Amino acid sequence: MEEKRILCIGLVCLDIISVVDNYPEEDSDTSFILSDFQRRKVEVAHLVWQSQGETPCACCLINCRNGSRTVTLYDTNLPDVTAADFEKVDLSQYKWIHWEGRNASEQVKMLLQVEKYNQTCPPSERVTTSVEVEKTRPELYQLFCYGDVVFVSKDVAKTFGFYSAPEAVKGLYGRLKPGATLICAWAEYGADAMGPDGLLVHSDAFSPETVVDTLGAGDTFNAAVILALSKGKTLPAALTYGCQVAGRKCGVHGYDGIV
Ligand code: ADP
Repeated sequence: MEEKRILCIGLVCLDIISVVDNYPEEDSDTSFILSDFQRRKVEVAHLVWQSQGETPCACCLINCRNGSRTVTLYDTNLPDVTAADFEKVDLSQYKWIHWEGRNASEQVKMLLQVEKYNQTCPPSERVTTSVEVEKTRPELYQLFCYGDVVFVSKDVAKTFGFYSAPEAVKGLYGRLKPGATLICAWAEYGADAMGPDGLLVHSDAFSPETVVDTLGAGDTFNAAVILALSKGKTLPAALTYGCQVAGRKCGVHGYDGIV
């Protein structure tokens, strides 16, 4: 007769093991982020220190063969920035403010603060706003009708039933406020956009010789497009610049040397 077996009940977990030379000091994630900001000349004057929650931390697997990225753990209980925090910002110091869609209802209040501020200034002093709708969370979809520039991800586009950037831009443009611009990046297909003239604008992707790391390609694209538009470049030129910089990013690990 076959020997009786052992049954185990519990939980299986994928352990991601990082082997380090020295054990990192407690809280060094925050110190690392701050010194990285400093090295890249990102100002942290308005940083909101939270009394609760921990610094978000993600474990990412990058496939060197095709640059694909898989986030296996993304843990965050850190509170989001509030409209009350944002009220402390002196808007006259800024020409452009960008929101990554997160706590959307609160972010709408911030966008309305900027709208109110803009009504008090001459056109040349107004702050341009942009929002990114990246995650497929219905709460974020209210942001479509606020920014002057709206970035929509391919994941969100797909949940609306659009399977290419031009389709997404045409199909979702009606959700924007009058005069706004919608931009949708689609990995190796580049990106498409539509401004108030209703013309579809496209840029091909600029593929590096070897794609090694696409983690953050979308953020790189957004940053480069915002930089170009904020300097007065046209929408087609900004889209091309966004794809060029994002393409360079895909050819290297990390972000050094891409601009
Ligand atoms: P996300 O990182 O948010 O998923 P995308 O994958 O849509 O963003 O990429 C944003 C931009 O990065 C694209 O418009 C394109 O210019 C560039 N890009 C992304 N993946 C590639 C790739 N495999 N080859 C060349 N360019 C790419």
